Order: sequence, then structure tokens, then C-alpha cells
Amino acid sequence: MTSATAPDNFTELGLIPALLTRLTELEYQQPTPIQAQAIPCVLAGRDLIAGANTGSGKTATFALPLLQQLDAEKSLPSTSDKGNYVTGLILVPTRELAKQVADSIKSYAVHFNGAIKTVAVFGGVSANTQMLALRGGTDILVATPGRLLDLISNNAIKLDRVKTLVLDEADRMMSLGFTDELSALLELMPKKKQILLFSATFPDQVQELTQSLLNDPVEIQVQSADASTLVQRVFTVNKGEKTALLAHLIKQHEWQQALIFVNAKKHCDYLAQKLSKRGIAAEVFHGDKGQGARTRVLEAFKAGEIDVLIATDIAARGLDIEKLPVVINFDLPRSPSDYMHRIGRSGRAGEVGLALSLIDHEDYHHFKVIEKKNKIRLEREQVVGFEVDEVIADEVSDADKPMAKPEGTGKKKRKKKAPVNADIWLRNS
Ligand code: AMP
Repeated sequence: MTSATAPDNFTELGLIPALLTRLTELEYQQPTPIQAQAIPCVLAGRDLIAGANTGSGKTATFALPLLQQLDAEKSLPSTSDKGNYVTGLILVPTRELAKQVADSIKSYAVHFNGAIKTVAVFGGVSANTQMLALRGGTDILVATPGRLLDLISNNAIKLDRVKTLVLDEADRMMSLGFTDELSALLELMPKKKQILLFSATFPDQVQELTQSLLNDPVEIQVQSADASTLVQRVFTVNKGEKTALLAHLIKQHEWQQALIFVNAKKHCDYLAQKLSKRGIAAEVFHGDKGQGARTRVLEAFKAGEIDVLIATDIAARGLDIEKLPVVINFDLPRSPSDYMHRIGRSGRAGEVGLALSLIDHEDYHHFKVIEKKNKIRLEREQVVGFEVDEVIADEVSDADKPMAKPEGTGKKKRKKKAPVNADIWLRNS
């Protein structure tokens, strides 16, 4: 991992005026830690492994140097025919992320006056428009792996001239089962290319990928859930009272833009109905919604027209919603790494955020596993009016011993109540 002192302004990173002007317009006052550490290395042509979540500023980390490199190449006399080639390829796991990344790149590139072409391709919509957009090739292509393979088989695009490959959210790409597609795509690219890999977590599959693919990479790890910007809390609640507690919190706190995670599409609709009966309007965002509906809901949520959005993990993956004040785990995520992905939606780029988990007795054990894997430990709290009938003592395993209460035996026990102090936070925030 790099440890050199990182510059604290964009000028020192070596970026060109067309980009610096844009960053000033966007009111990016200083580089985020990942940008400060990685951008000079990427500009120097190095491969990169970055442990960074959505919210860390990772898109600009690869987009700015890529644009700068492409701009430099454009000023050279070109001998190559145009054809359906792509130079900078960004692979992402979901369509929302593809659109979002492409939009960010186009925004960063406004002062190149259209000289750099960026196209996004993803499934769920007609391929024809995307084929048309790819005519004559593109400088940057943001793509989901499946749709990209379809387009290649239709001769809409060729990967023989890829110079930079970005693998964004590599862990998610693997967990969504894109391993074979990725291998097929790699076969079609030149061996020699710069590779930038971004991942929030590093399960075995991602480690194998980095070892087999990258050439002497710079490794940078950025804490995704920075304690100074993201507050994590966990509220215990009786089984069957989660919805009432959630409604109470939403009403009391009047959050603008709360993102609520559940584990199944039908839970989204069910929870939305239950909230609606309690006078809270919520929209749902899941894979059964058509692309048009998903885009509309997302735009409305971003614009602040919807306060509460209920989503599944897959649908919400990679959403870029600025300054999301709160993320709530109504259902706990199945995997500990998904917990980190979910909470990464809040407290972004230095903003203070809150990640709240609501747990009933059935969730206790699983939440402990999530904590242990993510090396966190949160105090169980209760909300006034929603005190739990019985507090279960922490189950003690050998591995847990340092954290465990001395009286814990693994059996259910009545013990002193968890702190009832959620109202303090509600008043203060
Ligand atoms: P990302 O991690 O790429 O999804 O970025 C998260 C959010 O932070 C996006 O809305 C970016 O526009 C914003 N952002 C990225 N870099 C900076 C920066 N240096 N200063 C302020 N905001 C930033």
C-alpha cells in the first residue's frame, strides 16, 4: 500500500487546465484521499488496485486521468483508421452504474468541447440505439459485461485497441456472476494495457483476478466507512415492530432522502404499502421495474421529490446520490461485505451520514457476524417507545471473547436493558 504524502490540491496532481477548470466549477475543493494518492500514479501509466467504495470519489480517480491521457493522444497526428474501436473501457456491474459513470465522465469532459466521445451500454434496453451510438467507435465506453459481449458479437464494437481497462466494483461484478463474461472480454483485448481495478472488498475471486491480470500495480486502500463522516448505529426492536419503528423514525426525523434496504423485491412493495398506511409515501426500486421506471424513480429521488426509497441490494448497487443523509437496513444484508456496500451510500465525499440497522431477536446473531467480519462493534440501542421485551445476551464464542459480556453463556438470558438513548441523537441531528 502506498504511504507517500499525498497532494492536497488538484493542481499538484498534474491535471491539465481543462480538467482543473471543471473541478472548480463543480466545487471540488480538494482531492479525496483516493484521488490524491491514485491520480498521479494513473497519470504515470501504472496499474492500480484500489480498495474504495462508492462515495470515496473513485469515479473521478479513474475518469480524470483517462480523459487527460485521451486528450494527449488526440493531439498526436493519428495514423490509425477510426473503425469501431474503443480506447478506454470501463466495466461496471449494473446498468445504473454504467449510466452514472458515463454521465460523470461527460461532465468532467465539458471543456474538451466534444473532442472525447463517451458511450454507455447496458442491458434492459434496446441494443439498436447503442449500436448507432457506437458507430465510428468511441474514446470511452462504459459497459456492463453481458451487453458488451452482445454488441461485440454484432460487430458493433471491437476491443483490439483498448489501452486502459477499468474494472469498477470488481467484487460486485464477481458476485453477480460476471466471471465468464469478463474472461471472454479479456481474451478480446490486447495483452498490453493499463488496468485500474476498484473494489470495496477483496474476496478470493478478486484477489485471483488482480494477481493474474495486473502488472506491478500500485495498491491503495481507502477506508470506505470513515468514522468521522459516517455514523453507524444499531437499534434493537421487538419482532413485528420494525415497520412501526421505521415509520416513527422517518416521521420524527423528517429525513430528506432515506434509502431503505430490504432483501427481496416483494418486500419492497410490501414495506411501501405498510408505510403508506402510516402516512409515509415511499417509492420502490428493484429489478422487476422496467428501465424507464427505474430511471424515473431515481431521478425523482435525486431531485428530492421522493423522501423514502426502498430498494434491494442489486438494484441499489452503485447508485450515486449525493449527500444521502441516511441508509437504513430494514432487513440485514446477507453478506458482511454487502453491509459495507450499503452503508457506503451515506456519508459520501466527506458528508456526514448515518447508517442505521434495525435488528430484532432473529437478526442478533447475523448482525454479530457482520460486525466481526467488518471489524466493527456497535452498541445496541433502543428507541423510546420501542423498548424490547427481552434483551438477549451476546452469544459467546471463543473468537468473540474480547467483545463478549462476561456473563454470556450462549443461552438466552434476561439482563440489563440496552441503552435507550436514540432520542438524544434524534434531537441533536
Ligand atoms: P464516487 O465515489 O465516484 O461515486 O463519488 C461520490 C460523489 O462525490 C459524487 O457525487 C462526486 O461528484 C463527488 N466527488 C468526487 N470527488 C469529489 C471531490 N474531490 N470533492 C467533492 N466531491 C467529490
